Amino acid sequence: MISVLTNSRPPRVCLQRFHPILLQPIPWRLFEQFNERAVILAGGTLTMPEINLGSSGREAVISLDRLGLDQIIIDDRTVRLGAMVRLVELASARALIPLHKAVASIGGPAIRNMATVGGNICARHPYGDLATLLLALDAQLTFSTTRGTEVVDLTAFYAAEDRPRRGRLILSVQFQLPAFQEVVFQKLGRRCVNTPSIVTVAARITRNSAGVVDRACVALGGVGDNPMRSYAAEEALIGKALDDESIGSAAQKAAAGIAPLTDSYASAWYRSRVIPIQVRRALSELQAVAT
Ligand SMILES: Cc1cc2nc3c(=O)[nH]c(=O)nc-3n(C[C@H](O)[C@H](O)[C@H](O)COP(=O)(O)OP(=O)(O)OC[C@H]3O[C@@H](n4cnc5c(N)ncnc54)[C@H](O)[C@@H]3O)c2cc1C
Repeated sequence: MISVLTNSRPPRVCLQRFHPILLQPIPWRLFEQFNERAVILAGGTLTMPEINLGSSGREAVISLDRLGLDQIIIDDRTVRLGAMVRLVELASARALIPLHKAVASIGGPAIRNMATVGGNICARHPYGDLATLLLALDAQLTFSTTRGTEVVDLTAFYAAEDRPRRGRLILSVQFQLPAFQEVVFQKLGRRCVNTPSIVTVAARITRNSAGVVDRACVALGGVGDNPMRSYAAEEALIGKALDDESIGSAAQKAAAGIAPLTDSYASAWYRSRVIPIQVRRALSELQAVAT
């Protein structure tokens, strides 16, 4: 006899919801009370499906929507984005044109309407396209901790062995706005739009008056669990002119020390072959803009 299981409805979800309006001390009391059993809710594009399916394994939801973390502050060239700024708001800020290509590459309009900056920084593979650009911009995160606030480089945040999930609430991200000709963003996916990343490359290159690269920040997304810097590519550029030779060398070395992941979009083998091609394309685009 063949029996068919028809009752595959997800388990009923009964989560306690909290909407704190002050940073201290309420969220911290809640974190202490629920420990690992609470989930931070920002735009909810990743957390809500988990909650609705009952697969989050949590007992409480702490929403950030009333903490006033949705401000965009631009002071000269210093930009501070609150963690709850929605991607759609970045897309409509004229001063933030260097971010627009990265934002437009993320999901579709419905996702960009809800998704937040802080959520994209915390999103795991293959997501984090805006975060890849922020990494190339050498951004810093401001956290709320039990002791007050703490500022950490985004590079250090991603490099940490076990990226902290609990007890670290991102308040904002800050960076220097790059000039148009200094920054590039390239994303390769299986489709032109609304597609997760196979390989994303973001780079910020500055040159001195002699045209020699004095600062290079090359970030890769979609390849590992988090966005990551390609230090080998950066070293191949610093002290050189941005020409075919240095670009070729940076592209060739870009995947050094990086072990890409396999997922349903691309294999590790494919990603490792595409990294040099995408890095070359990105740097060549910068070269073309600057000359
Ligand atoms: C259909 C679909 C397509 C997508 N396409 C892309 C894409 O092309 N490119 C891309 O980069 N991403 C993509 N995403 C992911 C999307 O960018 C992220 O979902 C979004 O940025 C996460 O933001 P959120 O505000 O919705 O986060 P949430 O879902 O609310 O949270 C995500 C995670 O971040 C944590 N978190 C959020 N804010 C904070 C904070 N301030 N402090 C500490 N922890 C925090 C949450 O606890 C949770 O673990 C896609 C998602 C979906 C569902």
